Amino acid sequence: MSTTEETNYYEIAISNLPLNGYFTYSSKISLKPGQRVHVDFSNKSYLGYVHERTEKPEYKTKEILEIIDKESYLSKKDMSLIEYTCDKFHTPPGKIFDLFFPPGKLLKKIKYLYPVDSKSILSETTRYDIALKKFGKEQILNDTDKKYSKELFSFIAKNNYKKKSEKFLEINIPLYNTYNYNLTSNGEKIVDFLLSVEYIDENELIKKMALKSRSSIKTLLKNKIIKYKEIEKDDENWNIERIKALTPEQENIYKNIFSNFLGIHLLHGLTGTGKTEIYFKLMEIVLNKGYQVLYMVPEVSLTPQLLARMRGFFPGRILGTYNSYLPNNQRVSNWLDAKEKNINILVGTRSSIWLPLDNLGLIIIDEEHDTSYYNQNNPFFDSIDIAIKKAELLNIPLILGSATPRIDHYQKALDKHFYLHELKNRPKGKLPEVEIIDMKKNSGSFLFSARSLNEIKNNLKKNLQTFIFVNRKGYSNYIVCQKCGHIIKCPNCSISMSYHKSKNIFKCHYCNHSVFSFTECPECKSKSLIARGYGTEKVENEIRKIFPEANVSRIDKETIENNKKFEKILKEISLKKIDIIVGTKMISKGLDFPDVGLVIVLDSDKLINIPGYYSNEIAFQQINQVIGRSGRGKKGRAIIQTYNEENELLKNAINSEYETFYNNEIELRKNFAYPPYMNFIQISIKNKDEKSSLEDSKRYLMEFTNLNKSISQIFGPIKPFVFKINNEFIHTINIKAEKNYQINYPEVAIKSRVEIVVNPYGNIL
Ligand SMILES: [Zn+2]
Ligand SMILES: [Zn+2]
Repeated sequence: MSTTEETNYYEIAISNLPLNGYFTYSSKISLKPGQRVHVDFSNKSYLGYVHERTEKPEYKTKEILEIIDKESYLSKKDMSLIEYTCDKFHTPPGKIFDLFFPPGKLLKKIKYLYPVDSKSILSETTRYDIALKKFGKEQILNDTDKKYSKELFSFIAKNNYKKKSEKFLEINIPLYNTYNYNLTSNGEKIVDFLLSVEYIDENELIKKMALKSRSSIKTLLKNKIIKYKEIEKDDENWNIERIKALTPEQENIYKNIFSNFLGIHLLHGLTGTGKTEIYFKLMEIVLNKGYQVLYMVPEVSLTPQLLARMRGFFPGRILGTYNSYLPNNQRVSNWLDAKEKNINILVGTRSSIWLPLDNLGLIIIDEEHDTSYYNQNNPFFDSIDIAIKKAELLNIPLILGSATPRIDHYQKALDKHFYLHELKNRPKGKLPEVEIIDMKKNSGSFLFSARSLNEIKNNLKKNLQTFIFVNRKGYSNYIVCQKCGHIIKCPNCSISMSYHKSKNIFKCHYCNHSVFSFTECPECKSKSLIARGYGTEKVENEIRKIFPEANVSRIDKETIENNKKFEKILKEISLKKIDIIVGTKMISKGLDFPDVGLVIVLDSDKLINIPGYYSNEIAFQQINQVIGRSGRGKKGRAIIQTYNEENELLKNAINSEYETFYNNEIELRKNFAYPPYMNFIQISIKNKDEKSSLEDSKRYLMEFTNLNKSISQIFGPIKPFVFKINNEFIHTINIKAEKNYQINYPEVAIKSRVEIVVNPYGNIL
């Protein structure tokens, strides 16, 4: 940072602002792209990011209020990635800059004043801005000039809490009155330090403060000025043994990738064929050269098992995690560790692609078909697309792996834009034997066919585990009046509410609105409301009734509130303490348990009928993934209950006929001009008022058409199937544009919210 004579002008992206474009501010100090600042935006202080230097504008500009980072945390390549993302996905730049930083207070400075003399006007440590308001500038200056009070900066610094000791110290009273206690000089030093770091490992503190003994810590503890903090740690004892050697097929692919260790490699391997072993061998090479590896998983639920395997394979390497389930404090710490190269392997979800890892040598994206890699809310973007760009910018290899690759990626591989590797044989176990049950001819109960129940019984006898897959969580899908047919709907969304028996509530799965359950129909006042359809909770109840001797667990978003709970259940499954697991798609993703002998898919039909051009693709993947959980150790079985036993897609999924499915699907996409042949853009106009949503979407449509005269396929405004979410009415405009066509998005002065999704993937609406 250097002070210059002349004034500089910078384009600034405003944090979390849903608007496209940058705003110009001036600064006497020269700044670098990526540096964080505070600026005045419509009379409020906002976090902003320097985009680039610009010319002095015609209009009057405001000066940057404060510079937060002394240096920029972002590289030139990070800046290019931001440009790319905003261009491709038409995302607001401020929202993309935000993704590069952990949430919360990364090195955020808060200024405090604390009294050091009884003559001070302050009676306790106070935030500077509050003290200023209370006493005025003059009095405060007087106080500090006379050294009655001292300034203190608190920032969140690095916490080394990964260390073996679990004794972490923190201040007991958040902002306490320092001089009321007779602190020794060591005591004062410790307190000052703890105020600025939140908490620290005890041994680390002793080292940092150069203490000769623990006595001052003991005194502070005794006087309750500081205390021990309890931190939940990852279970570092879960360690899965390293596999001995690769199979010849794995070895072959490993060598092929290694011989072209750049660009994008798509590893298409059926479930259970050992993709992970190949990743690990490649990672070893990169790690030995001193580079970092980013390993992405679709869902945080996959990390405990993966970390356990990594501990076995890479003893001594430092593993780190990054996902939104981590407490903010730990996210900040892991972010800094990753940035400062203190982490060798970073395992993360979608958000980890933005981490500014300076020493990155390889990116691996496992289960690359998963829809969770597409950010399903504003800013909408495809993190695999971002990863491809990132790998290209950094000139490092990227490996995508899946049993059911995304249609667009497989096409790229067949067109030789990606390297394609096919892995076909399971090293252990076999692909399961699959049986389709025609529920129209079912002799069993409403939920289970007689055959399914019989197979569960046999499986229990053999001391093997059973997975039961249900598409919906909750007890029932909807509540209906038997007399007048009225369906209970969410007051905020145009969608029926589900019944949750354990909490006795009606709940909306779109906005989480819930009410205590009632029995009287709000329409005809009869007491004839009944719950129809079923979800995981009802299936769990039924199973417990039918098999009272079995240990049953349920895995869905309701039962697994956090990572720790999930880790616990996973461990119980692997220790065979659970016989039957009822779950949603959370159980279908990449988990590997050798003793699952039977998988039952209860409602496969629901998977097949989701809206969107990608619906077949996702249905195929999910059915294939669920079946793949079976027979990973020995021979396994799978049963699929359906009312559409002739469905082509179902048949292909069951036979793991990816190529057949791909050929059918790509033909369909071509005929209907969908991705990957064309770009599909979905624009949603949202407003609390239904009429305004329609009017605004008509205006947007008109201006869009004017700006993009050569696009012929523009459809809308359309009232979508779910036309109201969270009290907002929705109208959509759908566009099909040539791949190389540069779309011009209009800035229309309308009150409605405009959301743009480019090539959506997954249930966005
Ligand atoms: Zn009724
Ligand atoms: Zn709702």
